[in-house]
Amino acid sequence: MIEQNITISHETLAIWFVFSGDKMLIPKENSHLLKCRWQNLAFAHAYKQQIVKIGSYKELPCLLVDMGNETIDEEDLALVGLRSVLNECSDTFFGIAARSWQVALFIRTHRFCGQCGSKMQQVDWEMAMQCMRCSHRCYPRISPCIIVAIRNKDKILLAQGKSQQSRNMYSIIAGFVESGETLEQAVHREVFEEVGIKVKNLKYFASQPWPFPHALMMGYLADFDSCDIQVDGKEILRAGWFDISELPNIPPKLSIAGQLIEQTITEIQQSSC
Ligand SMILES: [Zn+2]
Repeated sequence: MIEQNITISHETLAIWFVFSGDKMLIPKENSHLLKCRWQNLAFAHAYKQQIVKIGSYKELPCLLVDMGNETIDEEDLALVGLRSVLNECSDTFFGIAARSWQVALFIRTHRFCGQCGSKMQQVDWEMAMQCMRCSHRCYPRISPCIIVAIRNKDKILLAQGKSQQSRNMYSIIAGFVESGETLEQAVHREVFEEVGIKVKNLKYFASQPWPFPHALMMGYLADFDSCDIQVDGKEILRAGWFDISELPNIPPKLSIAGQLIEQTITEIQQSSC
């Protein structure tokens, strides 16, 4: 659990999640784990009062140090984007890294009260920022998003968004849930807006926190119902029904998009047996 009243000494051995700008600090050699004692992180010592415990990994505390926009230039360490960590580490480690980044971002963006403009302070019994003047309290932002794999007999719908064009990646349909909407309504609306088709037989699959920057992806499987594909041209540039034996470049299985695609492939294979 997230804790803020923690005692740090020179000897404190931990796995450190140090952020500078939108990058995470990792060792240049071996692994993504920045595992060391606090005394070895001299460049971060000015941030000692702001350390937050995010969780534990391999029986060691995971501690967040957010250095804001301060740049770090250490010979043995490198700054990398969270996405590159995603491709090369375990689920659990990525989960903690993701949580650290979201907490860092939350504290950075809630220094002042949205209601009266006064300075906000971290409360020490839960992860929240509170205005000491008007008592307005904020919690880390979580934005619900739906993501859906759509099956049409033995094919799956894959689409390419603007951001995926440079990597020539295809994925499934996803989008933010709007105020007042159920998850299922969001699925129907997003699919129709982005690719112009109707879906049916929605089945909840699983969820995944997605720290780019603070989404909670809620995954669904669905069947095609009606209408021809018509991309919106804004968010989605191209889309089509793909045969599972001729899939384009798709997201890794660590992401829920990758898992939903895999599940759809499995279901298609089982039904053709
Ligand atoms: Zn206030």
